[in-house]
Amino acid sequence: MSNIAKIMPASMVDGEGVRVSVYISGCSFHCTGCYNASIWDFNKGTPCSDVLIQEIMTLLDHDYIQGLSILGGEPLQNIELTRQLVRAVRENFGHRKDIWLWSGYMIEWILHSPYAQLLDEIDVLIDGPFVQSLYRHHLKFRGSLNQRIHYLTKKGAPFE
Ligand code: SF4
Repeated sequence: MSNIAKIMPASMVDGEGVRVSVYISGCSFHCTGCYNASIWDFNKGTPCSDVLIQEIMTLLDHDYIQGLSILGGEPLQNIELTRQLVRAVRENFGHRKDIWLWSGYMIEWILHSPYAQLLDEIDVLIDGPFVQSLYRHHLKFRGSLNQRIHYLTKKGAPFE
């Protein structure tokens, strides 16, 4: 299974509400100016395991936690682990917890890829690579103007 670089048990910056954030190691895009360049290496961090996934579920099991954020690294280049995390959230919490996912791939590409089904299982996708020339410091939940927030379900939408 892939490696996990970092787990934040109560993040307030990786999506709406207070969230458990999981940073998966490994990304081949190597965008200039990437905030997470230290975890481009797929071997960084700790190999994930069923025990670690269960620990993440325990962190989620608090009323003040709105959901899980999956970041990287590149979650789609670690698809087995990403799918396991998503499945574990749905098995343990149904749709009571929402799932946000950041990917360097654009939604148009994902929709025609073997990963398309994942979009039916998450609530929010922030897509696209980081582009330094389009960086704006005020953007919420994303770094550059080309990146987009796709609310895929009502659960993830800000009006919910
Ligand atoms: S896709 Fe994301 S994690 Fe990968 S290099 Fe670009 S900004 Fe960094």
